[in-house]
Amino acid sequence: MNITISYLGTILLKKGLLTEEQYKDLLVKSERQRAKLQNLLDIANSKRVHPDTTAITAPEIIASFDLVISGTTDRVLNEDTIMEALAEELKMEYRRIDPLKLNMDFVTKLVPRPFALKHLIVPLEQRDGVYILAVADPFNKTVIDNLELTKKIKIKPVLAAKGDILKTIREFFGFRASVIAAEAETTNAIDVGNLEQFVQLKGQGEIDASDSHIINAVEHLLNYAFEQRASDIHIEPKREKSFIRFRIDGHLHLIHTLPKKIHPPIISRIKMLSHMDISEKRRPQDGRIKTNHKNKEIELRVSTMPVAFGEKIVIRIFDPDILLTEIDKLGFEEREGRLYNGFLMRPNGIILVTGPTGSGKTTTLYSSLKKLSTPEVNIVTVEDPIEMVLEEFNQVGVRAAIDVTFGNILKTILRQDPDIIMIGEIRDKETAENAVQAALTGHLVLSTIHTNDAPSTITRLIDIGVPSFLLSSTIIGIIAQRLVRKICTQCKTQIQLTQTQISGLLLKENNYTVWHGKGCKECRGTGYKGRLGVFEIIEFTEELKAKVTDKVELSILYPICRAQGMVSLKEGAIKKMLDGITTYEEVIAITG
Ligand SMILES: [Zn+2]
Repeated sequence: MNITISYLGTILLKKGLLTEEQYKDLLVKSERQRAKLQNLLDIANSKRVHPDTTAITAPEIIASFDLVISGTTDRVLNEDTIMEALAEELKMEYRRIDPLKLNMDFVTKLVPRPFALKHLIVPLEQRDGVYILAVADPFNKTVIDNLELTKKIKIKPVLAAKGDILKTIREFFGFRASVIAAEAETTNAIDVGNLEQFVQLKGQGEIDASDSHIINAVEHLLNYAFEQRASDIHIEPKREKSFIRFRIDGHLHLIHTLPKKIHPPIISRIKMLSHMDISEKRRPQDGRIKTNHKNKEIELRVSTMPVAFGEKIVIRIFDPDILLTEIDKLGFEEREGRLYNGFLMRPNGIILVTGPTGSGKTTTLYSSLKKLSTPEVNIVTVEDPIEMVLEEFNQVGVRAAIDVTFGNILKTILRQDPDIIMIGEIRDKETAENAVQAALTGHLVLSTIHTNDAPSTITRLIDIGVPSFLLSSTIIGIIAQRLVRKICTQCKTQIQLTQTQISGLLLKENNYTVWHGKGCKECRGTGYKGRLGVFEIIEFTEELKAKVTDKVELSILYPICRAQGMVSLKEGAIKKMLDGITTYEEVIAITG
């Protein structure tokens, strides 16, 4: 039995997810929308090996209108919300399918792909001997009865969104099919057991990597990582298995456990794509892959490293949407944004961004250069290595082996008539001196340095050996930054800070309402989606310059910075927590 628009619409109306007006509008427009969606599906299917031949459903049609739920500002009536309401009405359990929590073997063993696709079902797990089966159609009892009979099992159906089910089928059956086929092939070859063929096989590493199954598996993996907004993919050989982990919003998640046999050809395939020497397995190598995803170019930086059980590969994903953004979207509060934009307007001097690895310094620098980039200015960057290749800039990669270092390349760069120079990182006296030199000769210099906060950057530079009067005459401002995860807007809920939390943060009031994410499909159950910068900025005012001497101490600098209005990283993070952008946990994570 198919669920009709009017049946579903009535339920949504009753639950306050649709207004009377939206409901009437839906009834009028739904048939034309169904035809439109069917047309889009036909086009998509024509390119698919495994087409989705199921009919367009009522939840899909309603969700396709992207209706904003009345009484909210940004919550959209998506398939997830619709199905959850339907499940509630039918007193069924509702499941958001989190692919990261599924076991690939279990999902793909019960029924073959065509069957799963046709009936839109996905086995999720086994609980007390009962198979938990995700279904998109709550009234399709026949399929379940038949499965119970033929497989001699007990099944408990749970409702899930059709989109979720389709995605899981594609991801799991696709990846599994590739892995199983590739594994079967290598197993057969080894089973021959004769030494000659075994040696031959070992010599065929390159051919294995070109095997269509391996090619498919690698492609699946990359696309899956892009979809999950992963910043890094780790492929790690263990004694018996190989682990695939993704870093998403700064945290690692285990994604797949693969048979060990598949590890070497997958590594070889990735090395091939990144133009590395495949036969070289004992020394670390670096490479790049340029690829496309949803019409945008994504750059992957690949590095290999020999570890105890084989070669480990890490793929860093440079998604321009994540690495380059508008200055206003980096997370600056009003005062910080005004100060920073002011720094960028200055014709010459040094702007320093400081923070640990992974604190978003590169995004800040790239986004700043992008803003400054016009046909009239010559922007040169020196990086180790070049993080993301951008046509507008002239980028030079540090190569210590042939003596192209941060320190000595700058002399060459200055002869190339640059206006703006970005130095990846100031690590030593030579680089610092060259940066100062460039600033004194009329250039705007942007760079990063490793310090804990903005004020201690001054003492750090003096420790490196830069005379204080040179700092005073060149530095425009210093920005310390960290990244906090943003609460997922789809599952955001209010909570109260506990008394311990309030006193731990040294807050003054007795009660604070804050927010956190309960976890939903949008955020893969983590409660977070995306990240934002927290900033601590000091401007090198005349007053501050006057206090910077070769013997200056933090205890002198800090009160001046505060008096000028500097908001500390901790205060900045707390503000973002009270504004409902991030959580208490994230504040603690960056401030300790
Ligand atoms: Zn969520």
